[in-house]
Amino acid sequence: MHEALEPIFQRVLDRNPGETEFHQAVREVLESIGPAVDRHPEYADAKIVERICEPERQIIFRVPWEDDEGNIHINRGFRVEFNSALGPYKGGLRFHPSVLLGTVKFLGFEQVFKNALTGLPIGGAKGGSDFDPRGRSDREVMRFCQSFMLELYRHLGEHTDVPAGDMGVGARELGYLFGQYKRITNRYESGVLTGKGLLYGGAQVRREATGYGSAFFMEEMLRVRGDSLEGKDVVVSGSGNVAIYTIEKVHQLGGRVVACSDSTGFVHDPRGIDLDLLKDVKEVRRERISAYAEKIAGATFVSGRSIWEVPCQVALPSATQNELDVAGATALVRNGCIAVGEGANMPTTPDAVRVLQEAGVAFGPGKAANAGGVAASALEMQQNASRDSWTFEHSEARLREIMVNIHARCYETAEEYGAPGNYVTGANIAGYARVAEAMLGLGLI
Ligand code: NDP
Repeated sequence: MHEALEPIFQRVLDRNPGETEFHQAVREVLESIGPAVDRHPEYADAKIVERICEPERQIIFRVPWEDDEGNIHINRGFRVEFNSALGPYKGGLRFHPSVLLGTVKFLGFEQVFKNALTGLPIGGAKGGSDFDPRGRSDREVMRFCQSFMLELYRHLGEHTDVPAGDMGVGARELGYLFGQYKRITNRYESGVLTGKGLLYGGAQVRREATGYGSAFFMEEMLRVRGDSLEGKDVVVSGSGNVAIYTIEKVHQLGGRVVACSDSTGFVHDPRGIDLDLLKDVKEVRRERISAYAEKIAGATFVSGRSIWEVPCQVALPSATQNELDVAGATALVRNGCIAVGEGANMPTTPDAVRVLQEAGVAFGPGKAANAGGVAASALEMQQNASRDSWTFEHSEARLREIMVNIHARCYETAEEYGAPGNYVTGANIAGYARVAEAMLGLGLI
């Protein structure tokens, strides 16, 4: 790490004790922006890095709700509004039992750079709750969402803060959240949430966008190496929103996804994952991934082992943070993997990233590779503002163009700063420079 950044990082550690994921996310950025610090002494004078590491606002609130048997539950809600230099706060909500303040801060910090990389006018935020929607009835999920919004609404607005989905928050949850916001405020303010259903202000391709974007980014990484997804065996971890639509696009681009997972284990289907069956199991029936293997001959369900042991040329971790460790990265390299793209946020541990990069594996960090979701959200905001709705084809073409541009921005910035092929350096410096320039122009706020 650049010596000027070390005391700043130490202060982040001291002031945010125990928030290890937040520390990890900050370290990753500070370790790669050293060359930009040398080139722009004016940023140091304005204390830009110190300000970027401190959220503008952090909201924590109680969320009481009642289950179907009349039992009362208390969860904790969060919204961390990290940086609004480039536009209204923008970033998803995560409902998962593992959510702590440090989780939301890591995600919000990453979001600032990711949103800057898209080139669109959006700031960075993240939120969520330690509520676990799995196994809950629709009515329970609705009651939770209504209680969550009863507090959160006062902090939102189409020009202020615009949440979207993330783990555990899909179209169902966003519908309930939007319904409650509309009821409380008496305003049909479509642009206040993105990822909505198509009948109430949602946009084509938002559901598919993160996965499709991740596949487009991988296609670009392979293209500059004179290669493509055509004929490649691919492993995609997870089987949620990002994973399912990554698989769909990889198949359309000629690759074959041979394994996917959930938190109970993974399925290996050497002839290629049957996407209709996977959607039925995970999106319609909300079953565990083992149900896929029970319904199709030739597929096996494996638990207690790592999905990264399945041989592949391309790997797309799309489940959760720190799911691809050194052992996983070593197995990928041993089996001839040539490219890894992060569909999830920070799924690869720092040591595993080093293993992959040292072995010459092309590595696309989540900030760049999974930015398709938030980019499509910004397009949804654009359509809401003009009361317009674009076709699927037009929306997908815009998404692809944005991903190609993000790839080019990372690739060219890495070259410009003396780290050719290093997308981590490229993404972090390109995102940082855009936010820093805007913060400088806005004065000390
Ligand atoms: P979902 O809740 O739809 O799916 C998450 C998937 O990951 C599920 O299959 C889940 O399995 C699995 N999973 C969770 N924890 C583990 C674990 N410890 N080991 C293996 N599998 C696990 O979430 P999304 O698909 O929306 O999000 C996935 C990742 O992508 C997250 O990191 C998110 O932040 C990131 N992301 C999402 C965006 C979006 O638009 N949705 C945008 C950009 C990034 P189970 O059901 O068993 O829990």
